[in-house]
Formats: sequence, structure tokens, C-alpha cells
Amino acid sequence: MTDAPVRAVLVDLDDTLFPQAEWLAGAWGAVSDRADALGLDGAALRGHLVRVAAQGSDRGGIIDQALVAIGVHPEPYVPALVSAFSGHAPEQLAPYAGAFSALERLHASVPVVLVTDGNPAIQRAKIAALGLGGLLDHVLVSDDLGGRAVRKPHPAAFRRALALLDLPAGAVVHVGDRSAKDVAGAHGVGMRCVRVRTGEYGALPDPAGLLPWKTAGSFREAVELLMPFCVREQQGVPARL
Ligand SMILES: [Mg+2]
Repeated sequence: MTDAPVRAVLVDLDDTLFPQAEWLAGAWGAVSDRADALGLDGAALRGHLVRVAAQGSDRGGIIDQALVAIGVHPEPYVPALVSAFSGHAPEQLAPYAGAFSALERLHASVPVVLVTDGNPAIQRAKIAALGLGGLLDHVLVSDDLGGRAVRKPHPAAFRRALALLDLPAGAVVHVGDRSAKDVAGAHGVGMRCVRVRTGEYGALPDPAGLLPWKTAGSFREAVELLMPFCVREQQGVPARL
């Protein structure tokens, strides 16, 4: 992969800028509280939610499986419990150590576009709780572009970002934690990727054929690696020249 100048950076959210587990723990708490209010054993349910989610928190059906585990037929309870999950909106979340100042530094140098999967209301609430909104030129939630079917590694959000930036893929780098989503998605449109080894999937090895351009131990370190390549577009100079 080339070391061509970087004129904009795309950044993933969950487990890249902040530990998704922090949000998830609060969300399971909200589901547990709602279960108590519905006359179920919220504490037991919470234990199973955590256990099932540990097998992969983006698999879906976690609430259903946890209800079955406490001996309850899921159907009557799922809508209320999913709504408690989706409505979880903590006032504050903490970015990874050094991530905020690294994003400030990056944003002062090149345009930054957040590219994330998930329920758009939840993802936007996380950004607000992290206080990162002012450091992002655009926020793209893939689900807004075509539902779950266009989640990463689908190219839709990457292509939309390139269109918004008016830049070719070779001038943009994506930073994210997951090989199957972030590295594969970036490569799919011809973009370089810096993989950050943080969060739930951080320890998974790079699959053959999905080697990132660079690897970093944290988002802060990823920005340190990127800064020497970052080139700000001069005003009035078309990005493609
Ligand atoms: Mg992620």
C-alpha cells in the first residue's frame, strides 16, 4: 500500500474512540430495570444478557436468548425491553485515554468523518455523550443509508464519505478496530486502513488478505502514525488536482 498523502480521515466509533462495553453495561442495566418493572427477575436477566453478549455483542437476539435463559417466553416482553435498550442515552461517556485530544489534533489538520454502524439514534446519542460532535465534519451512520444490509464492510458509507469529501479513495484513510468491518470495508473501496487494537475485537488476529496499512495500540497512537502523512487541502484547490 502506498504512503500517499492523507487529505481526510474516516473514523469508526465503537471500540475505536471509546469502549463500547461501557455503553453496553449501562444499556443492560436499563433493560434489567425495565424487566423488574414488568415483574421479571431483572438481576438474573442482566447476568444472562452479559453472558450472551460476551459471545459477540453485535449478533442480535441477545434479549430473546436471555429471556429464554430465565425461563420466560420472550414474545410479550421483547418490544418493551428492546425499547429500554434503544432508549438508553447516558449523559456522559468517556472516550479512550488521549482519544479526545488526538481527535482535536487530527481535526485541526484534515477533515474527519465518523463512519459507524448501528441504530442511528443510539449512535448519535453516544457521540453527544462523548462530546465529540464539534470535532467531526460529518457523521455517517450506515443504517441511514439502507438499513442493516449496508453496515460495514458494505461500501455505501465509505462511498458516501468520499462523495462528501470530494476526494479519491487513495487520499483518505479509515481508522477502525475490526478487520471484517473496518479493514475489509476500507479495502473494498480502495482505501487504506489503520487498525486500532482496542475493545472487544482488539485481540483478534488480522485474517490473511486483510492486513491493514498500519496497526496502532490506541486511537491516540493511530493519530500519531497518521499526522506525518496528513496534508490539508488549500482553499480553492480542487481535491482531485
Ligand atoms: Mg468498532
